[in-house]
Amino acid sequence: MILVFADQRDGNLKKASKEAISEGKRLGSALSLPLGVVVLGKGAGSVVDEIKKYGADKVFVSETPDAYSPDLYAEGVAKVAKENGAKIVVFPGTSMCVDFAPRVSAKLEAGLVTDITATEVKDGKLIVRKPVYSGKAIATVEFKSDIAMVTLRPNVFELAESEGAGEVVEFSVEGEAKAKAVKVEMKEAGKVELTEATIIVSGGRGVKGPEYFQNELQQLADLLGAAVGASRAAVDAGWIDHSHQVGQTGKVVSPKVYMAFGISGAIQHLAGMGTSQYIIAVNKDPDAPIFNVASLGVVADLFKVVPALIEEIKKA
Ligand code: FAD
Repeated sequence: MILVFADQRDGNLKKASKEAISEGKRLGSALSLPLGVVVLGKGAGSVVDEIKKYGADKVFVSETPDAYSPDLYAEGVAKVAKENGAKIVVFPGTSMCVDFAPRVSAKLEAGLVTDITATEVKDGKLIVRKPVYSGKAIATVEFKSDIAMVTLRPNVFELAESEGAGEVVEFSVEGEAKAKAVKVEMKEAGKVELTEATIIVSGGRGVKGPEYFQNELQQLADLLGAAVGASRAAVDAGWIDHSHQVGQTGKVVSPKVYMAFGISGAIQHLAGMGTSQYIIAVNKDPDAPIFNVASLGVVADLFKVVPALIEEIKKA
């Protein structure tokens, strides 16, 4: 079996989970293995129908534990994997999965490769690729363990609906959590989540202060249905919260369109957004390194470009 963990929060299935299930289905077809999907926690039952749309043959669903706990989540996934002879276990690269996937890997004695951006099946074996050295090189990795585990970079793998047997198996995860999330504080509820966004409007030191993030960049993002990102320089200056930071020590994103305003394009920033499909950079310095990766580079003052863009989009 190919087993995919579906990350859901309070009955909302993450887009990254749908991508993981779609990729699990593709791997299952290539290896002639059925696709199982495991979903845990409060609200798990309400995403089963959505999971089925992506071709699950079996959906293992447990409404327990009621709150996220890394050890109990790992216990639940490892149990399903063992009982069903999973050969490959796939996780979406959400922060929660990145947190507990290593525990599953230890329990299953499975090799784990995180943040992968491509898969290949060769001679019946899984081979994966992932960016390394801040995106400067791509590593190709084979597994030596009997079970292979991966986390997928969000927004890279295509969604694909398909048919599956759709059998639902209910189970429960019992036990005392060694660590448990007691409170979750959502920052800026209702805004588009950075790692799942199709479009990101990002600002750097060139933006010159917090107001421009809160007003113009946020307005542009709202018009485009985009999320707001930032460079570390902007975050370190206290202009915007760290949850918006893109890069090596921030979030890794891979949107369809990444708009960089007043960002020089340091290697640590590129590590977080280099796999974006279309990069638009606005910088007044024609030699800024961001132009080396930009699909469209505009040498201009961002304080003129952003308001003009907002005006044009409003007209459209
Ligand atoms: P700058 O490099 O100062 O660039 C500002 C740009 O704005 C310039 O290119 C300038 O020409 C342009 N500009 C100024 N005014 C205007 C204007 N009016 N119109 C248009 N353009 C204008 N950085 C990250 O971003 N993310 C990370 O996760 C990260 N992790 C790091 C980890 C380590 C271990 C280290 C050492 C560094 C890390 N950095 C990270 C920092 C990184 O090296 C850079 O310092 C940072 O990315 C620079 O941010 P910036 O491009 O906003 O600022």
